[in-house]
Amino acid sequence: MKKSYDIIVIGAGSIGVPVATEFAKKRQSVLVIDSLPSPGQGQDKKAIGGIRATHSDKGKILVSQRSIEIFSHWKEMYGDDIQWRSNGYSFPAYTKKDEKVLRDLINIQQDFGMNIKWLSPEQYRELNPGINMEGLRGSTYSPEDGSASPLLFTQSSYFKAAAYGAEFKFNETVIGFDIEKDRLTSVRTNRGVYHSAHVLNAAGSFAKDVSQMAGIHIPVNPDSHEAGICEPVKPFMGPMVVDMRKGRGSKNFYFYQNSEGQVVFCMTPDPPIWGIDNLATSTFLPLIARRMIRIMPMLANLKVRRTWRGQYPMTPDGFPIVGKMKELENFYQAVGMCGQGFMLGPGIAELIYRIVTEDYDSDDPEILKKFRSLS
Ligand SMILES: Cc1cc2nc3c(=O)[nH]c(=O)nc-3n(C[C@H](O)[C@H](O)[C@H](O)COP(=O)(O)OP(=O)(O)OC[C@H]3O[C@@H](n4cnc5c(N)ncnc54)[C@H](O)[C@@H]3O)c2cc1C
Repeated sequence: MKKSYDIIVIGAGSIGVPVATEFAKKRQSVLVIDSLPSPGQGQDKKAIGGIRATHSDKGKILVSQRSIEIFSHWKEMYGDDIQWRSNGYSFPAYTKKDEKVLRDLINIQQDFGMNIKWLSPEQYRELNPGINMEGLRGSTYSPEDGSASPLLFTQSSYFKAAAYGAEFKFNETVIGFDIEKDRLTSVRTNRGVYHSAHVLNAAGSFAKDVSQMAGIHIPVNPDSHEAGICEPVKPFMGPMVVDMRKGRGSKNFYFYQNSEGQVVFCMTPDPPIWGIDNLATSTFLPLIARRMIRIMPMLANLKVRRTWRGQYPMTPDGFPIVGKMKELENFYQAVGMCGQGFMLGPGIAELIYRIVTEDYDSDDPEILKKFRSLS
């Protein structure tokens, strides 16, 4: 008799791995398929590990708050250190306009019950000594946000999923589906054919191609971003710094010191660079180094170890696409995570479980409205 799973997850990345853990923990039979040789080898390992719940939309806030609960308790729940650090986020403002935008946002976030406040320049300097005080008008500070290692978290989650019984097939690519009426009846790969009650697209940068195999168009496009990491030094930084100002060839950029003392940094190119080219450019480091030294001059003493390039799986409105597809009753999407797939992952995993089992929480309809639920 042919084997059939409760769910097949396409993609073992920031979303697919926690989804597998969640379903396997709940005693569902899970098969995860990924083209690459091991978990987290797509965009997951490109993420710099920033985790925040201080968004402007209730759906993202709720999902990220749940993720933070999971990340921050991971070690006591599962025994593995994922380098969670509750270092917080900060958005310093150097222009009147940015100060107004940030203060207006704080009001909204406080209405949602978030722990975020406005600091004077002097208060902010106490958290991030070395910050350039010239023209600094103050900063937001959200102490409950934090950071963790995507490499360690996804590996740990993968081993938990496998221990709970999830099966993983690596070096195997999904190439099509068999469809009867309004159901996916099988998933075809370059190596075999698999059957399951439900199928989840968690294919990151390739989510549009996978969805197209089921005849459904979704607007997810890979948008290149580069990042880098310095050699470790003694702890000197408090919260993540997000500089909203535009610079040459770039929009915002952000950096923080991780639990090993390494400053990790990332920048948003302007104009965007679309596509899946992973070759690091020679322009990124000179551009971001100048910007980082301008906002925190002491960073000039750090040595950069390496840079890399990856993609945000972008949607036109910056919101993920999560939910059941109305065209096919057993096909689900958890895609278009943009620059937030790592921080949303564990919360999205629980949400997907509730969607598939139709055992919704009271907040889910509102979350799904914003997450383009097509159910
Ligand atoms: C430089 C950079 C910095 C970032 N920093 C952060 C950060 O600080 N915080 C944060 O939250 N996010 C960050 N991100 C974004 C984050 O990395 C992504 O949002 C997240 O990894 C997307 O998760 P995913 O599971 O959708 O995709 P992925 O993690 O890429 O997983 C998708 C998987 O699907 C597989 N796949 C695709 N097609 C197929 C197929 N046909 N068959 C089988 N397998 C397939 C791929 O091989 C891949 O392993 C950053 C991204 C970059 C590039």
